[in-house]
Amino acid sequence: MTEMQVTALRAGHCLHPQVMSIRGGSWRPVEFPSLSMLLVHPSQGPILFDTGYDPAFMQATDSFPERLYRWLTPVTLNDGEQVARQIVRFGIDPREVRHLVLSHFHADHMAGTHAFPNAAIHCARAGLDAACGASRWSAVRRGFLTSLIPANMHARARFFEDARTVALSTAFAPFTEGVDILGDGSLVAVELPGHCPGHWGLAVRDSAHGDHFMVADAAWSLDAIRRNMPALALSSGFLGNTSKTRATLRMLNELSVRNRDMRITPCHCPERAAQALARP
Ligand SMILES: [Zn+2]
Repeated sequence: MTEMQVTALRAGHCLHPQVMSIRGGSWRPVEFPSLSMLLVHPSQGPILFDTGYDPAFMQATDSFPERLYRWLTPVTLNDGEQVARQIVRFGIDPREVRHLVLSHFHADHMAGTHAFPNAAIHCARAGLDAACGASRWSAVRRGFLTSLIPANMHARARFFEDARTVALSTAFAPFTEGVDILGDGSLVAVELPGHCPGHWGLAVRDSAHGDHFMVADAAWSLDAIRRNMPALALSSGFLGNTSKTRATLRMLNELSVRNRDMRITPCHCPERAAQALARP
């Protein structure tokens, strides 16, 4: 597998009751940071996995019914915290980003898509269909803001479902296969069913940590994976399919037990977000 430099960038957070992410949690609102992962490929240059929040999220939720989304999960995005601004500090012009990988179409993962106009958008056809096929009200209820999907999305989309299936190394067991996004084995998308239609993670070889599995919203935190502690059924059933979500979490728990060296990054994990903040 081609090694890549991997950097976690924190792009805003929302507030939501803790119990929505972990059974037995409190009803008190806690911060859910949103991470975007910057990958630097030796020949393809900068690549992003998800975008986190972006000022475009605020504009998209200015009016009803989209405003309800922001009421339910109040968002904080500090000045300059959007990924398109953060990567400039690494000497990267957003127009240079040639590949954007979206784990799924919830707005907190793709709000910054507009800022990378020259990127091919790698995503699940099932996810895009679910986001585009819903009525405005139903889209909001399911976590989608269709105005954030670029007008030229269909021309730019490269679907996971069309990529070549490859075997994962045994280090990822019980996960056995994924799809080779770029055709060189460097980015392997792995379906992680349950959270919502077309929800996928990404397996890469991280130059600092070795095997690295970015699992998006398949789990809310590393703690939830280690304890195999699912979210309230109310929450997982509202957005997706509770039994599939729990089966995926069980597999992640098994992976974490079998391979303690595997680096796993859930998108909203406070532990990983604290490490992201510690970076220069
Ligand atoms: Zn999500």
